[in-house]
Amino acid sequence: MTQPSIAFIGLGNMGGPMCANLAKAGFPVAAYDVSKAACEAAREAGAAVAASSTDAAKAAEVVITMLPSGKLVLEVLSSVLAIVRPGTLLIDCSTIDGASARKAHEMAAAKGAASLDAPVSGGAGGAKAGTLTFMVGGKAEVFQRAEPILLKMGKKAFHCGGAGAGQSAKICNNMLLAISMIGVSEALTLGEKLGLDHKVMFDVMTASSGRCWSLDTYCPVPGPVPGAPSNNGYKPGFATALMLKDVRLAQEAAAGAGVAIPLGEAAERLYAAYAEAGGNDMDFSGIINYLRGTGRGKREMT
Ligand code: NAD
Repeated sequence: MTQPSIAFIGLGNMGGPMCANLAKAGFPVAAYDVSKAACEAAREAGAAVAASSTDAAKAAEVVITMLPSGKLVLEVLSSVLAIVRPGTLLIDCSTIDGASARKAHEMAAAKGAASLDAPVSGGAGGAKAGTLTFMVGGKAEVFQRAEPILLKMGKKAFHCGGAGAGQSAKICNNMLLAISMIGVSEALTLGEKLGLDHKVMFDVMTASSGRCWSLDTYCPVPGPVPGAPSNNGYKPGFATALMLKDVRLAQEAAAGAGVAIPLGEAAERLYAAYAEAGGNDMDFSGIINYLRGTGRGKREMT
């Protein structure tokens, strides 16, 4: 069976390796990013580089977007929808607000295109390894059509419900991640001040009830997890600016639903302060440096 042709738009920390995995799996991929360096990396990974998002999408049966914001997704989508054929499958893997996600579905339906919101979890490491988890919103039959493609970039794909349901699942997960990274950072900082070695703390907590992804896969201190951004000067990874976007999306959703999220609110305040103190373009796990009052993004003590 011939593989469907894919346009991949947005080749950053996540989109770059996701696009590379599709090319590696044998899909004909036309890739586009406003960054020339990102396009060059996609070419080296086996994709054809397009001159614009519409150029990438013009012959594609499937268009995948992986962009930083809802505004950009809607902008790219409106130009792509002007030229794609009815029946084209649009998959937005970006993390965006529910209103923009639902708008994207409406815009696609108006042009006879099939659409899914399909944000991911697993980080840049998961994107590279092809082990992402997809949280998908849209019609069940469209999910079934997309699933074989998603499973070339990830290990699991969950159909969460109708339009926007993938984004709802994603912001709940990321609010928890935001909180757990702060929890791990506080525990490691406290342990450090009590004279405990990071590796000892890591070994104890990964074998105990405090174990979680923020600790065992993305440890915020250098050493225990070699692939974590903490070993690479906190280069993202997952930028604090993007984490801040996600905790703000969670707050918006909670306000709309009348739900109290006191720890989500505290996390938003701490990431905002870290971003303000210099951590905006650093990996979100660098919040440990803000919390312990050392390094770039140092906490101002009053
Ligand atoms: P990134 O900033 O590394 O990549 C975004 C890419 O989009 C950049 O290469 C940028 O040049 C490109 N871009 C911007 N405007 C464009 C346009 N008009 N046309 C084409 N390309 C354009 O961000 P990322 O970390 O790859 O994240 C992408 C999305 O995935 C975000 O919504 C983020 O919240 C989500 N996400 C990120 C992670 C992570 O760990 N990095 C994990 C899960 C989800």
